[in-house]
Amino acid sequence: MQEQTLSIIKPDAVEKNQIGNILARFEKEGLKIVAAKMLHLPEETAKKFYIVHKDRPFYMDLVRFMISGPILVLILEGADAVAKNRKIMGATDLAKAEKGTIRKDFAESIERNAVHGSDSKENAKVEIEFFFTKKEIFSR
Ligand code: ADP
Ligand code: MG
Repeated sequence: MQEQTLSIIKPDAVEKNQIGNILARFEKEGLKIVAAKMLHLPEETAKKFYIVHKDRPFYMDLVRFMISGPILVLILEGADAVAKNRKIMGATDLAKAEKGTIRKDFAESIERNAVHGSDSKENAKVEIEFFFTKKEIFSR
């Protein structure tokens, strides 16, 4: 099934100049980048994006991290894109991430973990609409 999913290269990975290396992982696995923009999120936007985590102890730290520098927001398209992207990313906690995953290779900590990826088809749709208009998406 052709799908789209939202990916974010987080401020830690942008700061370390690893954008290209991370994009190459997606392309190597057959995912296409069909939309992309660099943003430096205002606090309110980051809080809204991560609202599902508002009651978690790490919520405000996560928000502060996500607004600490520019991010690259992407839409990835391909067969089973949501699950495929989660596999390429690796586990949230880099200590649990498998060898060869983005987080294993680029994360610094459970918080500063290089990438975001939608965790379900439903959330992918919501997250894509959060950041992109239809005209900004080049499905192919
Ligand atoms: P994922 O990004 O793998 O979907 P979650 O949705 O559970 O993970 O968490 C969102 C983000 O919050 C994580 O990517 C990470 O940056 C941060 N985070 C998650 N758990 C923790 C934690 N225990 N301590 C600090 N930060 C965390
Ligand atoms: Mg998540």
